[in-house]
Parts: sequence; structure tokens; C-alpha cells
Amino acid sequence: MGVWSMIKRDYGAVFRNDPAARNGLEVVLAYPGFHAILFHRINHVLWDLRVPVIPRLLSHLARFLTGIEIHPAAKIGPGFFIDHGMGVVIGETSDVGEDCLLYQGVTLGGTGKEKGKRHPTLGNHVIVGTGAKILGAITIGDHAKIGANAVVLDPVPDYAIVVGVPGKVIKKKILRMMEEGPVESLARVYMPDPVEEKFREFDRSIVELEKKIARLEGRGGAVRVYNTLSAKKEELIPLTPGKIGMYACGVTVYDLSHIGHARSAIVFDVIRRYLEFRGLAVKYIRNFTDIDDKIINRAKQEGIAWDTVAKNYTEEYYRDMDRLGVGRADVEPKATDHIPEIIAIVKGLVDKGYAYGIDGDVYFEVKKFGDYGKLSKRDIEEMLAGARVEVDQRKRSPMDFALWKASKEGEPSWESPWGPGRPGWHIECTAMSIRHLAESFDIHGGGADLIFPHHENELAQSEAYTGKPFVKYWIHNGFITIDKEKMSKSLGNFFTIREILEKFDPEVVRFFLLSTHYRSPIEFSDESLREAEASIDRYYTTITRIADFLTSVTDKPKPSPEEKSLEGVLAAFMDKFREAMDDDFNTALALGHIFELIREVNRFLDAKPSGPKAKELLLRTKELLSDSGRVLNIFNKRPEEWYDALMETKKIPYSKADIKEKIQQRQDARLRKDWAAADAIRKEMEEQGIILEDKKDGTAWKVSVSK
Ligand SMILES: [Zn+2]
Repeated sequence: MGVWSMIKRDYGAVFRNDPAARNGLEVVLAYPGFHAILFHRINHVLWDLRVPVIPRLLSHLARFLTGIEIHPAAKIGPGFFIDHGMGVVIGETSDVGEDCLLYQGVTLGGTGKEKGKRHPTLGNHVIVGTGAKILGAITIGDHAKIGANAVVLDPVPDYAIVVGVPGKVIKKKILRMMEEGPVESLARVYMPDPVEEKFREFDRSIVELEKKIARLEGRGGAVRVYNTLSAKKEELIPLTPGKIGMYACGVTVYDLSHIGHARSAIVFDVIRRYLEFRGLAVKYIRNFTDIDDKIINRAKQEGIAWDTVAKNYTEEYYRDMDRLGVGRADVEPKATDHIPEIIAIVKGLVDKGYAYGIDGDVYFEVKKFGDYGKLSKRDIEEMLAGARVEVDQRKRSPMDFALWKASKEGEPSWESPWGPGRPGWHIECTAMSIRHLAESFDIHGGGADLIFPHHENELAQSEAYTGKPFVKYWIHNGFITIDKEKMSKSLGNFFTIREILEKFDPEVVRFFLLSTHYRSPIEFSDESLREAEASIDRYYTTITRIADFLTSVTDKPKPSPEEKSLEGVLAAFMDKFREAMDDDFNTALALGHIFELIREVNRFLDAKPSGPKAKELLLRTKELLSDSGRVLNIFNKRPEEWYDALMETKKIPYSKADIKEKIQQRQDARLRKDWAAADAIRKEMEEQGIILEDKKDGTAWKVSVSK
């Protein structure tokens, strides 16, 4: 493109972008932005022709005249416009695409001292707001908008909007084909907001102050939980003093449960146990989804009745969960036992205008519930843009979800005002939680994958129906990942609990799942399970050591140098354990405190103490370990039971009698002074995973966890 046509485009850009520009003469004579680019066009030609001095001199003069500094080497596409240009600086290796617009105080600056490309490249149709700085050899994509005063240090994709310091992409235009044609929308990318950060800081200091006041008043700290709804940690204040109503979404019973189900079940089991430990009366509800497409499909596959599928897999679920030490909930309702309640709620929603029926189906009309998206922090417009194209044509909006489904030929069905059908998935939890708890209750839990759509829909339909807040605290546990990918049934990268329990004791699995905070993702691998196994073994080995000590301790006082240190750890232990668990059920930290005590007591025993004081300290240790273990429902085996379990999961080829006999044979060999034979026996046993330990009063054995 020739210089003249570029200037013509620049001239046109003034009229396109500035509504105040009406008169051509005015623009030519008195528009600094236009003058700046005019000068630059000439400068750039001279610079291209390698004319010395003049281009820089002209650029310098133009700067005096216009307040805009454009280095002669900068490459600028046609249709360039600078509005109120005072203070604009464009560095020499800048590269600006077509039809870009800059406001005052913008810097397209360089970073670094090396020669070569130091300034940014702007794509076509980029708009840069007042005072924004774009620094370094980065690329700003086509159609990007840079907010006022943003400082951009990283490349920006096409169509992005950037704000803040340092610049963060917040919105990206997406174009999707919908039934009614292309739809433009904005997807929000969350970014730190300095004002909100300040508020958070205030929040934190208020919490700290409250804690301090509570301590001064002699009250213990309170339990604090992370609430998905408010996206922050809050003090747990029950709706009814002293009582907690808690509902967790259970499984759809159509297959064996996998490790992800185990995590969720164990997390809420521990939360319930801990709240009870803290003196709250917990009423815990966990449902079974016993009617669903997946169950119906499974029944077809297996050629059995759908309710037999549900019944069988409910039993399998109990078998797995019992082994993992997951307690039964107070009520474990099934969807199909609550059809009248479900129908009453669906009818209520239709009567109130929140739902509509079509051909025997009933849908919840999402846009009628103004707060839709408040739990998952999504916005309807965005979700519409992401909705699949092949939506049900009969629905008023692709976002609307089924409350009631007309039954198809040969499918289970119940009579309803809309004809024979069955409930949609979400409605059952509303019906069962209201039935067994209340219209408003304290805690609703589940895996993070349930936040959307399941819990968002539950919330919408429940609050629309009752007109009251549904749940006070929403608690969600994190995913399990395998090779950093989310584990899920649909990806096929999952392990059933059954498979894992072939190789590891249930206590290992439970410990492993609790050794990470419940909201963090857990990377699943055999190696980490083996680490958990080694930790548990260390625990039981210590318990054996304590037991040995207690049976052999004498009254002759022999203080250990570690006595003071153990005493200190014991005195602080329960407070620390409680503090960890009070802080959003931080089981990982609580286990850390348990193992700190284990380490300390081992050090104490290494010094071979004796006397009544030592005995008292060890009895106290035992008591604290079992108290804390009880809350988490781990470490409640006797050491012998642990070794039995290891023999089974490690598939040790000996019975206990075999081991006893081998130890005797070795003992005989040693008496004969046949050291070679004795060693051979020891070695053979070691290869099979049994380690011998010679003690004062004979030889003990244990299962090697490293095998
Ligand atoms: Zn649910």
C-alpha cells in the first residue's frame, strides 16, 4: 500500500473513531493525532530510504508539535488513529496492524538492552486505552482491547480484553452457532481484583481478631469451613444451635464404585465424625440414585430388572464402604421411595411459574430464577454460548433442565399429573433433603464435579420452590487425578475400590485419601499408596514398641533427655489436632501432628527410659493417638491385625504357623552353631517379605512394607 493511500485511511479513521470530527479542514489543520501519523508516514519513508538524521529530526519536531513520540522505524498499518494523543510513545521496533486506535498516554515500549525486536507487535483492530503500557517484544492479537492503565507484559490472544497491573485477560469473545444463528458471548476468566483483595485482607484480619477475642474469653476457636457459595472460609454457625443437618449426594447404583466415590464418602464421613467430636448433634443424609438412564441401560445389557441392578449395586456399595470404614448415614433415602414428594415439588414449581410441561416432560425454566449461577459462579449468557447445538427443540431455552421425564416404552414409570414418567436426576435431592432435613439446612456436600450442573440446579429448584435459602454451607471435595488428568468413568482412567483393595488394605486407602486436604486434587498412584502403607506400618510399629515398653518397664527411674520435649508435644497435641481440623477439616495437617508425636515418642524410646514418669508419658501418648485416630477412623487395629492384613494384601506365601516353625528351625540351627543354615532361613523369609527381628526374649517377625 502506498503512503498516500495509507494517509487516506488514517484520515478516514479520524472520522470513524471521533464523533466530534466533522470538518476535513479542521482535521488537517488541528488534529495532533492525525499530524503525528502524517509526520510518521513521511519519516518512515525517509527512514526506509536510509536518509540519515532527517527522520529523527522530523520525529523530534513532531513530538514538540503533537505531544506524540513515534520512532521513525516503527511499522504502523493504515487506518491508525490516536485520540487525545498527548504523551503517546511508540518505540522504534513497534509493529502496529491495520485500523488500530490508541488513546492518550499509551506507551508501546521496549524492554531489555539487546539489539533487535524490543517493542510490541499489535495485530489488526486493536484498541489501547488511556495510559496503558504494552512493554516488550510481545504480540497483541487481532481485535484485542487493552483497558485503561493496564500494564501488559505477556502476549494477548485474539479478541481478548486485558485489564489490570500486571495485565490479565478477563474476557474472550466466543462465536458459537446456535439455533437462531451465530451468538457472540463473553467468557469470564477470573482475575485478582485489588479492591476485592483488600476486602479479603480485611476479612482475614477480622477472623484473626475474632479468634483472639474467643481465646481471651476462654472460648475455643470455631470450626471454619470453605463455602463454595461464598467462595471463602466461614465460621460454621449451625441454623439450630448445637445441631447440624448435612446432606451429601450419594452414588447412582449401576456399577461398582471407584476411588473417586471412596474419596467423597470418606471426606464426608470424617466431617461428620469431627463435628460430632466437637459436640454437635449431626443428622447426616446420604442418598442413593436408584432410577436413572444408566441403571436402565445396565439392566438392558444384563437382561435383568432395573430395580435388581439398583439393589445389587447398593449392596456392592455397602460392601466397599464398610471395608473403608465409612459409617452409615442416619438416613439413606432412595429416589424411588420419594416419588410423591418429588411430584408435589414439581407441581409446586409449575404452579409458581418456574416450570413448564411439554408432552409429558416437565422442565425448570432457568431464566425465571434470577440467581441461577450463583453457586458455580457462571453466567447464563456465557453458558448459553457454550450450550450444544443439538438442543431439544421443545425447550424454551437450552439451559432448561428436566424435572420430570415422560417414560419411554418399556421403561419404569410412575403416574403423575403429566402422565406416566420418572423423575429427572436433580429433583430427587431437593425432595429428599427437604423431607429428611428441612427446607433450609446447614451443609450440602459432594464432589466438585457436582457443583455444576447438579448442585446449581438443586439450589435453583429448591429456592424457587420454598422461597428460602436452601443450604448455608456448600462443601465440595476435589478430584482424583491419574497422570495429572481428572479420573472419571467417562475417560475410562479409573480404578474400582475392589481392584485397589486387592493390593492394599482399606486402611491404606483411607489414610492415603486423608493425607491430602479434601479440597485439593489427589494424584493417584501405586507408589503413593505404598508410601501411605509405609506410614501406617511406622505407626503400628511404634504402637508395638510402646506396648513392649509398657510390659517391661521397671520402677527404677531413668529420665530420658527427650522427656521434656515429649512432654511438650503431648501437652500441645490435642489443641494442634483440633486447630488443624477446625481449619476446614485439614486432615493432612492433623496427620502431620500425629506423625510428629510418633517421631517424638520414638526418640524418647531410643534413649531407653524407665520409671513411673516414663510409663505415664507413654500411656498418655497411647491415649492421644487412639483419641485422634478415632476421629479419623484410622489406626484402630491392633498391630497383629495390621500384620495379618499385610500378609493378605502382600500375598505372603506362609501361614503364621509356617513362620513360627521357620523361626524355630532357625533357632535350632543357631543352637547347633550352624550359622550358614540359620542365615539361609532368614534370607529365604526375607525374600518372601518377612523380616525377622531378634529381641531379648526371642525372635519377632514383621511383614516388609517395602516389598
Ligand atoms: Zn444430589
